[in-house]
Amino acid sequence: MSSFDLKGKAALVTGGNGGIGLGMAKGLARAGSSIVIAGRDEKKSAAALKELSALGVEAFSLKVDLRSEKATGAMVEQAAQKLGRLDILVNNAGMNIRKPPEALALEDWNTVMETNLTSAFLCSKAAYPHLKQSGGGKVINIGSMMSIFGAAYLAPYAASKAGIVQLTKALAAAWAKDNIQVNAVLPGWIDTDLTRKAREQLQGLNERVLSRTPAGRWGEPEDLSGIAVFLASKASDFVTGTAIPVDGGYSSLG
Ligand code: NDP
Repeated sequence: MSSFDLKGKAALVTGGNGGIGLGMAKGLARAGSSIVIAGRDEKKSAAALKELSALGVEAFSLKVDLRSEKATGAMVEQAAQKLGRLDILVNNAGMNIRKPPEALALEDWNTVMETNLTSAFLCSKAAYPHLKQSGGGKVINIGSMMSIFGAAYLAPYAASKAGIVQLTKALAAAWAKDNIQVNAVLPGWIDTDLTRKAREQLQGLNERVLSRTPAGRWGEPEDLSGIAVFLASKASDFVTGTAIPVDGGYSSLG
């Protein structure tokens, strides 16, 4: 059996109804994992579910606002119930509010931090007993180039994504004894709803991304499917606490 095989495994992907989350969910499904995707937009979830089911695996969607601790806990319980177990958690849901720091309200700050960072902590905490019960598991957290670099218009986003890297290390250290590996993925510029909005708001972004990315193109959500399978599978059993860029070389330039 391939060490990348995920048959018999069960995965929960937050924000799995579009963009990078769906790209990763498709990779996991093609490797044989059953899937629950979770998000707020039921229309997007229904369309994503069709794509996942067409890959021949059991797939469900759950409606959740990850800013609520109660709803987040309930989501994890329902996912484990629907799939009968839980082996893989992908903390992917995220958003951005682009303003200079002096124009940010506390509410803006809290919205970004709660969605991008606090939800990853809450989901991981709720998933822990289920992963343990499965005899081990995999947590994949989604950081960003902004886990490494700064930018003038996204203080809370950069803080949340840097926090994701440290949360990853802390969880990896705490749960290694339980055979749970926790890693972060740092995507470069990927063509999704999130970055389409950024292109509308930031003049010249498209040109800057193309010239700054050695691969000379935007990433596609499917570019994240391989790393998802690796970090979710037996192939990565001795890999934990890392933050792996998937960025077409973006972070290799000074
Ligand atoms: P999308 O906007 O396509 O996806 C974001 C996902 O998060 C959606 O599925 C959305 O679901 C979900 N989501 C957001 N807020 C909530 C919430 N409060 N409760 C539940 N679900 C929520 O963007 P991307 O695919 O680009 O982003 C995915 C992740 O990748 C994010 O963490 C982002 O920061 C990160 N990232 C993206 C990069 C890029 O270039 N695109 C680069 C680096 C990191 P719904 O709409 O149904 O609520």
